[in-house]
Amino acid sequence: MGCFFGGSALAEKVVIIGSGPAGWSAAIYAARASLSPLVFEGTFKPEMIPLGQLAFTTEVENYPGFPFGNIRGFVESAVAKDRHWNLPPIPEHSKDPKNRNSLDDIAPHYAVQGVELMELMKQQALNFDTRVVEDDIVDIDLSSKPYKVIPAKGEPIEAHTIIVATGARANYLGLESEEEYKNKGVSACAVCDGALPTFHAKPLAVVGAGDSAVEEATYLANLKSAVKVYMIVRRDEMRASKIMQERALNHPKIEVIWNSVVDEVLGDGNLVTGLRLKSTLDGSTSELAVGGMFVAIGHTPNTSFLGDKLEMNEKGYIQWAKPFRTNTSVDGVFAAGDVADDYYRQAITSAGTGCMAALDVERWLAENGIE
Ligand code: NDP
Repeated sequence: MGCFFGGSALAEKVVIIGSGPAGWSAAIYAARASLSPLVFEGTFKPEMIPLGQLAFTTEVENYPGFPFGNIRGFVESAVAKDRHWNLPPIPEHSKDPKNRNSLDDIAPHYAVQGVELMELMKQQALNFDTRVVEDDIVDIDLSSKPYKVIPAKGEPIEAHTIIVATGARANYLGLESEEEYKNKGVSACAVCDGALPTFHAKPLAVVGAGDSAVEEATYLANLKSAVKVYMIVRRDEMRASKIMQERALNHPKIEVIWNSVVDEVLGDGNLVTGLRLKSTLDGSTSELAVGGMFVAIGHTPNTSFLGDKLEMNEKGYIQWAKPFRTNTSVDGVFAAGDVADDYYRQAITSAGTGCMAALDVERWLAENGIE
């Protein structure tokens, strides 16, 4: 674990908390810089989901470098066999070995799945010198250096630097029927999922009235296959900025349904077929036929284990201390990915800031004489 400067020789050079695109990208860069990173990947508690939000995503069509095609063969060849159980099932048409050997016939429309993309990133980190612990971090002690990270099950670990990459989770309405139809017509990301065949040429609904909801509705309404997009707004006005509101209100394919909330997601067992809406004025209900519901009612960053030890912005996201650097308010603690980003929230931007955090750690260690 190298020599030290004013700390324990046994302290880790860098502990990475989180295992989404930011965590694995940080690990790849830190490992290749010989920092031997230790990644806490989380368990299945709500805050620390192994592989992050992408574990809940099906096709990922916007991550550069992953066009659809014979992705499955590549994933299976690259990811260690003992983790194949975690990969999504092979699509029906690819099960026939005859199809799987023909370049034209092998799942021509099969985009990389969220879990596959994350397993590939994890494997890339493991290929160098990354160590992974299946545990949650429940607290950190930043009162003296080296810092301590405190896992739920294991012993506290000393660390010269920490990268917080715990992400943010989309808020949902909390309906049982919403849970049942997640990935079957219910989504919290139009940019990620809106162009999927499931939603082609169907009326769709966006729930929420903030800038995100307008952005999602506009994105969906501008797709070539768009038919109609309903915005379900619980009050008689929107929270979104004026200019965004006008964008929605003037769009020929967007219709706002005011003073309404979703009471139930309706479906045929396989896919969403509609919504039962409830008026917030008189409690009356009505049904709306849609093929998908996009929930855009805000996100919650996964920061509860931090208490108030790092400076957060007014929305509860970790605040970067310097523009375009991943340093937080505490020296030697860095933040990457959605936990520090309430604006872009994309896998590719998370991966980018994960890389930045590892480079910032490398420089910090060099400046502090830790080899
Ligand atoms: P916001 O918190 O701004 O808006 C959340 C919306 O969801 C509100 O309209 C709220 O309604 C509604 N809502 C919350 N809970 C429910 C519920 N249970 N049922 C129905 N509706 C509900 O979150 P956003 O994600 O939209 O935006 C976050 C931040 O990111 C904002 O600061 C925004 O400006 C920014 N942003 C900027 C963009 C841009 O500039 N292009 C794009 C996207 C986001 P109510 O109003 O009644 O409380």
